[in-house]
Amino acid sequence: MIIAVDGPTASGKGTIAKALAAHFGLPHLDTGLLYRAVGRQVALDGGDPDCAEDALAACSFPDALLDDPELRSEESGGLASRVSIHPAVRQALYARQRAFAMQPAGAVLDGRDIGTVIAPDADVKLFITASVQARARRRWLEMTAGDIGREIDIPLAEIERDIVARDDRDISRKDAPLRAAADALVIDTTGMNRERAIAEAIEAVRMHRAAAR
Ligand code: C5P
Repeated sequence: MIIAVDGPTASGKGTIAKALAAHFGLPHLDTGLLYRAVGRQVALDGGDPDCAEDALAACSFPDALLDDPELRSEESGGLASRVSIHPAVRQALYARQRAFAMQPAGAVLDGRDIGTVIAPDADVKLFITASVQARARRRWLEMTAGDIGREIDIPLAEIERDIVARDDRDISRKDAPLRAAADALVIDTTGMNRERAIAEAIEAVRMHRAAAR
């Protein structure tokens, strides 16, 4: 079974994807991490994330970079959203993601274009969303509580601005823009806690599987 989990930044899609993978015993790939690694590699190379050539060269980042805690920073997220605009970068990362999706055991992938581009043939497609305010607040709580490895003191309004800018870039890019696949089930997690959001997603997959039998 392939489960595609898409949605904007801080919607809860990563948490939900991880929980679905554990519940259904499937391997999980956080595809955002690949774009973050490309963004970080461009910075390490002293390149320009807005230049397609620099970004493409950074796609051959070493695998060890995927374990770098710096990838989880807001800065890496911003760089990722800039390099992800280039079609050559998306193309370069396609084969790795597709191969992961096609494992015989099945897989859970989360990202922006899993249900539309990477695995349009996925058995279940979820699109996880939440209001900008709810997403900014979650991200702010994570950051100020030190959940990303260190405590950061950052105003909520700044995170909100960042999220809006990232959404704009992800939604308006020409290649593989962020959008729900026509056959995706949309789950709005505004006002839901973590447990409830996970329970809804598990139930959605279970119902879908039962209906497909
Ligand atoms: O999900 P995460 O916040 O880690 O993603 C970082 C950025 O990588 C996103 O803002 C998006 O621009 C890009 N991305 C993408 N396609 C994916 C996953 C992430 O374009 N499948």
